[in-house]
Amino acid sequence: MSLDPQLIKQMTQWRRHMHSFPECGFDLPLTADFIAEKLESFGLEVIRNIGKQGIVAVLRSGDGQKSIGLRADMDALFINEENTFAHCSKHQGQMHACGHDGHSAMLLGAASYLAQTKDFNGTVYFIFQPDEEHGEGAQAMIDDGLFERFKIDAVYGLHNMPGLAEGKYIVRPGSLMASETSFEIVVNGIGGHAAMPHKGVDPIVVGSQIILGLQTIVSRNLNAIEETAVVSATEFLTNGTVNVIPSQVTIKGDCRCFSEASLAKIEESMERIVSGICHAAGAEYEFTFTNAFYPTVNNPIQTEHAIAAANKVFGKDNVDPDCLPLTISEDFSSMLRVKPGCYALIGNGVESVGGCALHNPNYDFNDNILGYGAQYWVQLVTDQLT
Ligand SMILES: [Zn+2]
Ligand SMILES: [Zn+2]
Repeated sequence: MSLDPQLIKQMTQWRRHMHSFPECGFDLPLTADFIAEKLESFGLEVIRNIGKQGIVAVLRSGDGQKSIGLRADMDALFINEENTFAHCSKHQGQMHACGHDGHSAMLLGAASYLAQTKDFNGTVYFIFQPDEEHGEGAQAMIDDGLFERFKIDAVYGLHNMPGLAEGKYIVRPGSLMASETSFEIVVNGIGGHAAMPHKGVDPIVVGSQIILGLQTIVSRNLNAIEETAVVSATEFLTNGTVNVIPSQVTIKGDCRCFSEASLAKIEESMERIVSGICHAAGAEYEFTFTNAFYPTVNNPIQTEHAIAAANKVFGKDNVDPDCLPLTISEDFSSMLRVKPGCYALIGNGVESVGGCALHNPNYDFNDNILGYGAQYWVQLVTDQLT
């Protein structure tokens, strides 16, 4: 199986068009119209407005009962693009700095190819989701009935990776990417004159003890072999001034870990530490633990299928089937919580094109890898829907 150079040329045009007109979050009218119109022109059944502006396109062939879901993200970032090439962003303050333009173009390419060849037996669901960057788009589509309205056996996702050479592919069974959770601890003491601390409850001393206490979560509460995690207090805010002991301290921070069990343990340990220290000092507290992204956990069976397809497309030597986990996060994790599936990464390149980090104002998706992504999707479909 190899893609027609004409299709690669089209994918490049689509990708650059989407790059020129980036949109963020759930508000993607131009992008969703563009993608839906293309899918309709290939002859697919297109269902819109699932999870606000999410799209599902359905392609059936033969009488097979098996199905597969392939997912791309459509949203950009609130970044001012610094590139000056012809296809740079025409929307001030918005930019495709994570390559979701490329992900959408690759999936459109696969849809176009499969709609023409129909060389599979079953149903392919092409899922285009909004708002990956804030971690809400996948869940919004799920809440809107993605997996009830469509009988999807398994889901697959793909992201580009700058710093990894073109034509390389990495994946791993189990936890591939970390969760991302923010926390806020508000300590309410009794403020007063800096010369007379005995008359109050100093929340700065309490807050400082809490910060030291938080250091024991990773070092004393989590399993050193199985539970990699990071707990970082990143802000310490008070309402005091040079000669006034504050009445309130707010501590904010961020946690990353690789399983929901670890995540639960971190939350529980954090509240225990905060509550114990505040109780000992006679201070009150408020504690919030807000999860933005769950850990991305690949199912071992779908990961095997993904590796088998990747070996054919990228060549065995270019596939790392057991890469190290990554501390970045991805909201495809929400889909993997309810459906078995696999998320993988493909090299965006190491040179100036493709080597620039994600979320950087000079980033661009490398069009040379569009063919790899589309072929990978086609291979997965052909292998799985036989
Ligand atoms: Zn991103
Ligand atoms: Zn991304």
